[in-house]
Amino acid sequence: MNPVDLLSEMIALEAAAPTHSLRHRQGYNDLLGFGFFRETGAISAVVCAECSDPHTAQIKFEDSTYGYYCPELCFVELARERMNTVTPNLPFLIGQLADAFDCKRRKATPVYGETWRIGSVSTDQGDIVLCFLPRLSDEDDARQLADALSREVHAPSRLVVSAEGQLPISIAMTVTLNELVEMSPRNGCLIPQFDLCTLGDVP
Ligand SMILES: [Zn+2]
Repeated sequence: MNPVDLLSEMIALEAAAPTHSLRHRQGYNDLLGFGFFRETGAISAVVCAECSDPHTAQIKFEDSTYGYYCPELCFVELARERMNTVTPNLPFLIGQLADAFDCKRRKATPVYGETWRIGSVSTDQGDIVLCFLPRLSDEDDARQLADALSREVHAPSRLVVSAEGQLPISIAMTVTLNELVEMSPRNGCLIPQFDLCTLGDVP
């Protein structure tokens, strides 16, 4: 499995995930080591699945032990390793994508909402602006994207990269992150798997 698949899965989740649930996934250590994941510290609540009526509970620290109160089971202990979470490091990913495609006009913060401009790439057919949105799965995502791009300088060609979903849209070409790049296990650099020049006259 390509580590970029795991990265995409985590981005599409849009939530921090407990370290222990990822530790054995292929590519996890590389993604963490190279900086694509960052540790986000302790979680503050859990879903109790130990009793007959699943519920959420705040985590407490009592008598040197982490745990939470369950109406049925009283105090339920949690192993310390279950406390740590990781989340995708989007600013880092955007920078790495910009490096991979040697982008000009980079932007290190979102354009608007969750839409990022990775930068623009010069090709024989003219400049292509690369954008990123975590998910492009439904009309809401498409609206968010259109709203964000309307705040940008008009670009003749745009390619929108998303971790999940490839809803056809009229304002840009789309590609998923794992189609666009692979990660080098040697140094963590992203390697283009997609020739932007083949896009031709993109909308
Ligand atoms: Zn419970």
